[in-house]
Amino acid sequence: MNIYSQSLEDLENYFISIGQKKFKAIQVYDWLYKKNVTSFDEMTNIKKEIIQKLKEDFVFEVPEIVKVQKGKDVCKYLFKFKDNQSVEAVLMFHDYGNSLCLSTQVGCNMDCAFCESGRRKKVRNLTAGEMVSQILLVQNDLKLRISHVVLMGIGEPFDNYDNVMKFINIINSDRGLALGARHITVSTCGIVPKIKAFASQKLQVNLAISLHAPDDNIRNKIMKISKAYPLNELMDTIKDYIKKTNRRVTFEYILLKGVNDSEECAYKLAKLLKGLNCYVNLIPYNETSHIEFKRSSEKTILRFYDILKKEKIGVTIRREFGGEISSACGQLRSNYEEEL
Ligand code: SAH
Repeated sequence: MNIYSQSLEDLENYFISIGQKKFKAIQVYDWLYKKNVTSFDEMTNIKKEIIQKLKEDFVFEVPEIVKVQKGKDVCKYLFKFKDNQSVEAVLMFHDYGNSLCLSTQVGCNMDCAFCESGRRKKVRNLTAGEMVSQILLVQNDLKLRISHVVLMGIGEPFDNYDNVMKFINIINSDRGLALGARHITVSTCGIVPKIKAFASQKLQVNLAISLHAPDDNIRNKIMKISKAYPLNELMDTIKDYIKKTNRRVTFEYILLKGVNDSEECAYKLAKLLKGLNCYVNLIPYNETSHIEFKRSSEKTILRFYDILKKEKIGVTIRREFGGEISSACGQLRSNYEEEL
């Protein structure tokens, strides 16, 4: 078992199962996440026999960093796991802290028409430990603390629900990386049953919904998931989420030229979201060489923004990071694998 996939409770149960006191789990966590050791031998306050047993039962498994690209406010990593599968993560330097955008799956099955990651089908889920180690490696490489995590890299987090929830538990734990729930954001294309499950957990973790269209007609054309879970079902589920958690939801909306960026779309979107505790994050589309969608002009983006503002919907335009190093959405892995 990978030691980085263990929640504190998992380790407590483990120690109980081998006839030890459960506080040893806290000691191990302290070594892993406060002192950042990378082997059991360094855990000097734990008895030799126990270290031996831990070595038999667990491994320290982290991916290899195969590529790093540094831009002025961004650092992009390509990781390769033992089975040769690769994913990417992007660190963004914001004024409020260091935010890591990380991957949850190798590839993705959601098949959104505009998305680079989805061009490559899902190969497998990442384990909790594989997500945790993306954070540890970047922190270690750059000698800094990551203060925010967004699950917006490759993959659909709610198509890997159990591992993602375990991952959140590990990084949120005071004894672990102690990342505040409000500093963690899960982004989903809208898998309704899992949004319901997530709502019932009543976490303070942020939820972002990739909406990208104000009606089923347009959404069906660009997001397959919309056929399984139409907009009215999605919106009812989100209303219920807000009621249960009292949390504000973010709607992501990529502006695609001639597809979803008309004034009519803006008014429709405003109508759809009116009165909801939410805000809209407008995303200038990152064009990729493989996909024919184009980015809306700056004028169109600002017009869309103004309409939402006028209609009293909270709205921001996403600041762009790393355009100069092709760090946009899944491009590093894609380019890397196509070079091979
Ligand atoms: N599967 C999840 C999380 C990963 S994608 C989801 O769908 O939310 C993270 C965000 O990036 C999503 O809103 C996705 O639609 C968006 N995205 C994908 N490709 C993009 C591109 N080329 N330019 C801008 N945003 C993109």
